[in-house]
Amino acid sequence: MQTNPTTVRLELLIDNKAVPTNHYFEVRDPGKRSSLVAMVANGNAAHADQAVRAAHRAYLSWRDIPVARRIELILDAAQAVEAEASALAETLVREQGMLLADTRRDVANGVETLREIAAIAEDFLKPEQHEDGESLIQIHKAPRGVVAAIVPWNAPMGLTMAKVAPALVSGNTIVVKPSPFAPLAVSRALELIARFLPDGVVNVVHGDGEIGPALTRHPLVRKISFTGGIETGKAVMAAAAESVKNIGLELGGNDPAIVLDDAAPEEIVPHLIKRIFVRSGQVCYAVKRIYVPQSMYGAFFDTLCEAVDRLQVGYGLDPRATLAPVNNHNQFRHIRGLVDSARRDGAQVLELGGRLAPETWDEGYYLRPAVIGKVAPDAPVVVGEQFGPIIPVVPYGSEDEALRMANGTEHGLGSSIWTRDVDRGQALARRIEAGLTFINSHARTKLGDRHIPFGGVKQSGIGRVRTRIGLAEYIEHHTVSLDKRTLGANHKKEDHHATQSR
Ligand code: NAD
Repeated sequence: MQTNPTTVRLELLIDNKAVPTNHYFEVRDPGKRSSLVAMVANGNAAHADQAVRAAHRAYLSWRDIPVARRIELILDAAQAVEAEASALAETLVREQGMLLADTRRDVANGVETLREIAAIAEDFLKPEQHEDGESLIQIHKAPRGVVAAIVPWNAPMGLTMAKVAPALVSGNTIVVKPSPFAPLAVSRALELIARFLPDGVVNVVHGDGEIGPALTRHPLVRKISFTGGIETGKAVMAAAAESVKNIGLELGGNDPAIVLDDAAPEEIVPHLIKRIFVRSGQVCYAVKRIYVPQSMYGAFFDTLCEAVDRLQVGYGLDPRATLAPVNNHNQFRHIRGLVDSARRDGAQVLELGGRLAPETWDEGYYLRPAVIGKVAPDAPVVVGEQFGPIIPVVPYGSEDEALRMANGTEHGLGSSIWTRDVDRGQALARRIEAGLTFINSHARTKLGDRHIPFGGVKQSGIGRVRTRIGLAEYIEHHTVSLDKRTLGANHKKEDHHATQSR
């Protein structure tokens, strides 16, 4: 077995100190399994407790630091992360397996998220005030306390910073648990951020089995911000119930794209294809099923297959590659299983695309992109989240039927409608059960980055991230109400307008 000369050893980060453990787990390159990328300290419940206690100690003074100063520190930290962006993006390719262009976007998104939340925090965190002759009411936006942030491997930078930024600007402290499948880049970024902050404000623990439950059950954790699969989300929710913690859940999606009969396949397929196979399909709100009118099914299917066949599957750092391997063995086996079951059930299964360096394929989790036609609307590949480079295309007769199928799962994250008729698209959009519906795209725009509260309905999650709506999930409204009458006219007059939020 080849040992990579650049193999990293990663410890836990508690109270701004590197904490070693007795056990370490391996991180291997998903595109070159023989390459050992890192050995990572495997934390246990005692480490989780140590990290939460450190975060709680830090919270007792961090919450009193003025908002403006907290923002300054976060902006300085964002700059430090940005200065290492290239190295972080390359590390991400080696641990996560994705294309360099995608990991660069994830790192940039993480930095941008820190700045975006910092920009809205000061105004948002101002207390609200109401006054008449009898009373003065101040509604403060107080922090909650220690936040446990649990993140997946598929976009660790953006997803983690969307928890770190709102937690810290609001005066909370945080314990982050990265995924064992992509712990390196995000831990390095968090280490850089922690250097700008008082000890214990940002802590990082690694592991899987013990750490998650230890954090989600810990009595000093007041909020859990979790991103991951639905089943894990249910376990998190059950654990949180024991001590009535506030929870935010960003869970799995199975986003439908509904193509209307006025859309032209050759116009929309180039856009759709990017949103199906982005990050090899490993995006919570990637397009995961397409509904196409019977009347244009053949033309659409052929156009889609031609485009998919132009994808080139290869290693994430190979500049020729347009599709990278999947991240881990479970994903690999899950997608292979869906392809096999679709074939067994008589669907039309086309595995397409070019294979770059096929002699290396046995060393990584490489999969050719698959298009599944003639598939039953309730087949596993349609109704479950695939999270890989595979797309079922389902015909429909009427718009109502398409809507019924689109709404017919327990998912409700993103969705899209493809049409030349804006009014028709907008009317249909309102009937889709989802947190987000895009028309003629399936991705956020620049404007959307700043204004879209991101999240799902049904089993795709609880709550929203980003924007003022997301920021609100990290605060408690604490009302202070003064009755002016009790002390008569002699009560000390408050300088209301100078009141600062914590
Ligand atoms: P996962 O649920 O397996 O793991 C997510 C995190 O939870 C990891 O850090 C894992 O170690 C931890 N964990 C495992 N068991 C736990 C427990 N009992 N208690 C607490 N934490 C525990 O998910 P994954 O495979 O890493 O990520 C893929 C999933 O994440 C997909 O379903 C995807 O759709 C979803 N996701 C959702 C969003 C969103 O915004 N809605 C974004 C990205 C990914």
